[in-house]
Amino acid sequence: AKETGKSSCSFFDDKLLRESVRKVEIANAISTALVKDEFQVFYQPKVGPNGGIIGFEALIRWQSSYDGIIAPSEFIPIAEWCGKIGDITRYLISCVFREYRTIVKLVSTTIHISLNLSAHDLRDMSLIGFIRDEMVKNKVNPQHIEFEITESSYLENLENAALFLQEIGTLGSTVALDDFGTGYSSLSYLSQIEVDTLKIDHSFVKQLHESDKDRFIIQSIINLGISFSLNICAEGVETVSDRDALIDMGCHQLQGYLFSKPVPLGALAEALSAINRT
Ligand code: C2E
Ligand code: CA
Ligand code: CA
Ligand code: CA
Repeated sequence: AKETGKSSCSFFDDKLLRESVRKVEIANAISTALVKDEFQVFYQPKVGPNGGIIGFEALIRWQSSYDGIIAPSEFIPIAEWCGKIGDITRYLISCVFREYRTIVKLVSTTIHISLNLSAHDLRDMSLIGFIRDEMVKNKVNPQHIEFEITESSYLENLENAALFLQEIGTLGSTVALDDFGTGYSSLSYLSQIEVDTLKIDHSFVKQLHESDKDRFIIQSIINLGISFSLNICAEGVETVSDRDALIDMGCHQLQGYLFSKPVPLGALAEALSAINRT
């Protein structure tokens, strides 16, 4: 028994060791990736209840020389851990703002482009100046830019986050609360930070037709948002019946594979005409 315990213990150590080696290697590969331009921006359209394009979410992609495609869900937490998230965020902001003119020309109506920020970004007040400078340089209308943050971004340091978001508002841009409802105490903070949009997490949307509870949660988030005069965006919309149910419940913005997967700028025109055909 003792020996089994020992071997299972070393098996566990192996796994832990391999994981931490990969973590450190990815952390190192991030610096190379920034220099070698291995990061790319993909855009996922957001659609209004009448089917018109109302915006795009910018999502980072990494085709690494280290290990092929690495998912943001893996490397973003590592970038936060090793202190490189600020560089990635700046890289992405520059890319998106450079492509802004081209994106705006693809659509005839006013749109917004959303960028994701991480918790670390909200502690870095110098990011505000960077955003402002990049907007000026690329002639970006601040009102066309939205920043998506998650609950973890402001829970740790509410005062800082509130200040940061206030500055974003002063620039003229808007803020969306991502993954709304999945955290611990979303509600109590809604009155303390400036938010324009709530994004309903796709874990709720996924169960829309199977779970009465998830449907009630979605409807409650929508009602709450409406009473705060916020926009409501549902993510992970994969089927026509998801779409119809969410529009019935009062969603203002819909995002998901039903309309388009995230695509690079070069494929965006085609994605948009496919949406217009449906
Ligand atoms: P998120 O911000 O909640 O982004 C939504 C995720 O859902 C994206 O995954 C998107 O590709 C995926 N998605 C979109 N439509 C559907 C659908 O219909 N069904 C399903 N199953 N999934 C859908 P992605 O691109 O892998 O990003 C994962 C997470 O990584 C993001 O979650 C965000 O938290 C983070 N992330 C991505 N790009 C950035 C970035 O530039 N900066 C930061 N800080 N985080 C990022
Ligand atoms: Ca997001
Ligand atoms: Ca989300
Ligand atoms: Ca997420």
